Amino acid sequence: MTDTDNAPPAAKPCPICGKPAVARFKPFCSARCADIDLGRWLKGSYVIPGEPVDEAEEGAPQQRERED
Ligand SMILES: [Zn+2]
Repeated sequence: MTDTDNAPPAAKPCPICGKPAVARFKPFCSARCADIDLGRWLKGSYVIPGEPVDEAEEGAPQQRERED
């Protein structure tokens, strides 16, 4: 029922878009996808849960608490 041993030794798909990975950008398919992943990683590192970040979102409209 399991054919795990039958899996071809092909490169794993890009974790970002699912396209075949390129050796140069392993495990991604392109520099763009590698960049996207890096961005996510950095973003995750910068944003500390529970700590307010005021300067992080420049240009973005500040969220106001609704005073209903
Ligand atoms: Zn990709």
